[in-house]
Amino acid sequence: MSGGLRVAVTGGAGFIGSNLVSWLLRHPAVGRVAVVDDCSTGSTSLLGSDLAQVDFHHGSVLDAGLLDRAMSGADAVVHLAALPSVPRSVADPLASHAANATGTLQVLEAARRAGGPLVVAASSSSVYGAQPRLPKSENNCPMPLSPYAVSKLATEAYLGAYHSCYGLPVLPLRFFNVFGPRQRAGHPYAAVVPAWIDAALDGRPVTVHGDGTQSRDLTCVDTVCQVITTAITDKVASPWPVNLALGTRTSLLDLAGVLGDVLGGPVRLAYTGSRPGDVAHSQADPSRLLGLFPSVRAVPLREGLERTVAWHREQRTPASDRVGGSR
Ligand code: NAD
Repeated sequence: MSGGLRVAVTGGAGFIGSNLVSWLLRHPAVGRVAVVDDCSTGSTSLLGSDLAQVDFHHGSVLDAGLLDRAMSGADAVVHLAALPSVPRSVADPLASHAANATGTLQVLEAARRAGGPLVVAASSSSVYGAQPRLPKSENNCPMPLSPYAVSKLATEAYLGAYHSCYGLPVLPLRFFNVFGPRQRAGHPYAAVVPAWIDAALDGRPVTVHGDGTQSRDLTCVDTVCQVITTAITDKVASPWPVNLALGTRTSLLDLAGVLGDVLGGPVRLAYTGSRPGDVAHSQADPSRLLGLFPSVRAVPLREGLERTVAWHREQRTPASDRVGGSR
């Protein structure tokens, strides 16, 4: 590739990052994609054949020299690298802080040294925590309940501060519950959608923490990639955090129903206790998002689940029998 926008993606071997890399490589305005990833929770296998088309920098966002090499000449940086789990942060708060908060600071310092590219970074709806108001508006006071949420509040606050102090163009995005192809199950910190699909395809009951009435603004990864790609090509910046979800509200019991429809049979539920740090309800106020990205089109839940189930089924097919790539 030559010419076009140069984009560096931290966490590009992860679930959202590898999907984004695919989107970027296929966009005519993008000329070069660099990836920084230590493969602690991600894997180069998620990049599939895209791996050969990116400049892959294996290592941590805590390594300033590595960041300088990856971000050299970048027009935009998408900072997704993080240890992305509430329970993981409860088990090891210092590790989450180092990767998520200090890692963001390192990326912002590298962006300054690189001449001030647009920095888009992943924050999280978990920053709302105990904030009772629904839908969650960016104007509501964040009330984080876990070390992970605090590390994400630090992420977006550092972006705002670097805009204020150094004029860096930034875009802190609060992701809600993102799901889609390439989000893996089979580990203790798996998110609800992949964990449930994996269990259901195995014929096991799915685990419901609490009574299942808790709700989430489930967002298909393709919606997230669409917004981030538009931010890069149209140079959309905001020093203030922006919810990246469209204001839908699905209870876990509703999710089980739609998933059963997609799978062609009901999923069995196994109830267990609530988890510390989990929030009861999460639904975005999308006003600020729609103001900045008026043409965003969200992938409907059922369609997103169909794509996701298809990917999980493909992963269960022996590689020699698979058709096409990893999506
Ligand atoms: P993921 O674990 O699949 O991706 C994170 C990637 O970052 C992995 O590839 C991992 O190897 C890499 N990484 C971790 N620590 C690193 C470090 N120190 N240096 C370099 N790379 C490192 O998770 P994801 O779901 O794709 O999450 C991407 C981002 O979105 C994260 O910042 C996460 O906090 C945020 N987020 C995700 C969701 C969601 O629902 N998936 C919701 C809110 C926020």
